[in-house]
Amino acid sequence: MANNMVHDIFCKIVRGEIKSKPIFQNRNFIVIKDINPQAPIHLLIIAKKHFEDISSFKKAHTGLLGGGLMIAEKISKKVGLKNGYRLIINRGADAQGGVPHFHIHILGGKKLGTKIVK
Ligand code: 5GP
Repeated sequence: MANNMVHDIFCKIVRGEIKSKPIFQNRNFIVIKDINPQAPIHLLIIAKKHFEDISSFKKAHTGLLGGGLMIAEKISKKVGLKNGYRLIINRGADAQGGVPHFHIHILGGKKLGTKIVK
């Protein structure tokens, strides 16, 4: 194992060291169900390359990042989100994200509350 490999839980899922059942994947992202769902449908669009959070992206990653966002719409009907969904990206201490590896939450499957900040 190379010394510069990152060992967060999503890196392990991407590398197949932790088994997962991807709902979708392409060259840059893998989509899995959240282990602790906060809505009837709660998926994670996880970057395959390790970016700690959105602050790690450079201008050259604009296409990659946009492609990640567009996955939500691409898979929405297939996973039962025909009435819409909410995307959430946590960054930094105030957001209280748990896994330091860039991912986008997709939440839906019911009428969500109008507020996302407590
Ligand atoms: P964050 O708070 O970092 O934005 O979100 C991390 C999410 O990853 C949480 O919603 C948490 O439930 C989910 N999660 C953490 N560990 C695992 C795991 O091993 N498998 C899956 N599928 N989800 C995980």
